[in-house]
Amino acid sequence: MGVTSSPCASCKLLRRRCAKDCIFAPYFPPHDPHKFAIVHKVFGASNINKMLQELQIQQRADAVNSLVYEANARIRDPVYGCVGAISYLQNQISQLEMQLAVAQAEILCIQMQNNQDSPSPNYDNNNYNLPEIQIDNDNNNLQQYLRLLEIINNSN
Ligand SMILES: [Zn+2]
Repeated sequence: MGVTSSPCASCKLLRRRCAKDCIFAPYFPPHDPHKFAIVHKVFGASNINKMLQELQIQQRADAVNSLVYEANARIRDPVYGCVGAISYLQNQISQLEMQLAVAQAEILCIQMQNNQDSPSPNYDNNNYNLPEIQIDNDNNNLQQYLRLLEIINNSN
């Protein structure tokens, strides 16, 4: 019984008999030997066994997917693993946020210059030199502009 059916990828690699209730069999089918080989190389079969034992059956497939992803990342980047990918992407996000903030600040500067060029009816002589007066009519722009300046200052 069970002798003719092919063992799962784990048991095949570990050269052992694949029991009917083999914990690896549902997640490491024989047609995808690389999937187990890579997690075995990074985490070790007995550790994977222990981790799966501690989980509920409905959580195991997700755990295996995560282990496979992390193992692949660890092979690509032995020092940082998937943390390397995460920090690379976070870096890209903050660079793009910076570029966006600068572009928005430039847009606001141009808008402020345009407001300055056109005559303003409620012109206040006391605040003649303060830039706030030019964008007083558009409080949203002022708040947005100040927030952008804050972002730019924080990222320097
Ligand atoms: Zn097996």
